Amino acid sequence: MVGYRSGRPQNTTMVRLTERGLKPPERYPVAPEHPLILGIETSCDDTACAVIDGAGRVLASVVSSQLAAHRPYGGVVPEIASREHLKNWPAVSAEALRVAGIELPDVDAVAATRGPGLVGSLLVGLSLGRGIARGLEVPFHGVHHIEGHLVSPFLDAELGAASVAPERFHGLVISGGHTSLLDVRDGQVSSMVETRDDAMGEVFDKVGKRLGLDYPQGPRVDELAEEGEPDPRPFSVARAKGELFFSFSGLKTQALRAIEQLERDGVLSGASAHGNGEDLPAATRDLLAGFRRTAVDQILDRLERSHSARPIDLLAVSGGVAANRLLRRELVSWADRSGVDLRLVPLIYSGDNAAMIAFAALERQRHGFVGDSEIAPASRLPFDKLPPEHAVLERNADRHQETP
Ligand code: ADP
Ligand code: MG
Repeated sequence: MVGYRSGRPQNTTMVRLTERGLKPPERYPVAPEHPLILGIETSCDDTACAVIDGAGRVLASVVSSQLAAHRPYGGVVPEIASREHLKNWPAVSAEALRVAGIELPDVDAVAATRGPGLVGSLLVGLSLGRGIARGLEVPFHGVHHIEGHLVSPFLDAELGAASVAPERFHGLVISGGHTSLLDVRDGQVSSMVETRDDAMGEVFDKVGKRLGLDYPQGPRVDELAEEGEPDPRPFSVARAKGELFFSFSGLKTQALRAIEQLERDGVLSGASAHGNGEDLPAATRDLLAGFRRTAVDQILDRLERSHSARPIDLLAVSGGVAANRLLRRELVSWADRSGVDLRLVPLIYSGDNAAMIAFAALERQRHGFVGDSEIAPASRLPFDKLPPEHAVLERNADRHQETP
């Protein structure tokens, strides 16, 4: 098993308040240890298991990356992914329980990602999760992957209680599969701005792949860009007149053409493997810096325009690309200028993980949902009807109030 992370999260993030006197959402009460929720995430190429308690404290978050298994192919191979999940699960779950200091029968509810993702991979996590829940006779939640990302900025990186997600907030989810600005009210999610073509992370990966960088290329493109001086000439922010949307495929084409030009000019040697890119010439770093700058500018442009049309009070930013250094810096200053209360996901929870899936289930229980009666994996899953209609709403009002 490779890329094993567990135990106490190392990274911290700033939880910022604006000068407009906005208060942080209340923390979950620290006392309740229950419900203990076991989270499972297997939507793509990470096998993840986590345990959180009733205060949203992450008692354990174990992520076993399949990077080594997929690296020879330059991207994720679905069949390999499902097989790796099955192989990794026993060790990953045992480690999560060990770190959390609990036994399986202590678990009060189980949550697994239901979609979107690779169907074979989802099926592994869902079957395991449902089986465990049935065996223990506890509720099961089939969680939308984006539902997990959306609430992840409210998790505490330092093992503290989570913040209660406010009844109304905006979520910006940026990953390898999504670039979405979402409006969340009372647990219901509606989309405000979506990408019309590629997701931002996907474009970082493709540009990095063209340069012969190892998978996953996004974080490395970010590092190389950090060392360059942005040359904005070949790049332009995609325009969006009228209805707002994201679009990154034009920027990807511009970057790929600029790389070809460097090859024609003899600055860069053609399609060879560059591993982590240490040997790439300075001009490549400048090109990547310009590319990254333009991608981030598009996010800021859409945020600014959405905010002017309808003010954003609290923006929760999540997803793998929320680790992007420039994006984080720029979001902090944009939020300062605009009086927006910004919650950046702790770095440790930006990529796919199971703590966010377990926490989404805790949030559901807080809203009175006691579990899903029926679930099936779904490679595509719209999120405009979240939580799903088949989730069972607890009708007993007293019990609802008791739920933390
Ligand atoms: P998924 O897209 O499967 O839900 P994640 O939420 O973990 O997965 O996001 C992974 C994506 O985030 C990949 O496309 C990866 O390249 C990208 N990514 C991770 N870190 C960075 C970074 N620092 N800069 C840009 N992209 C990044
Ligand atoms: Mg994700």
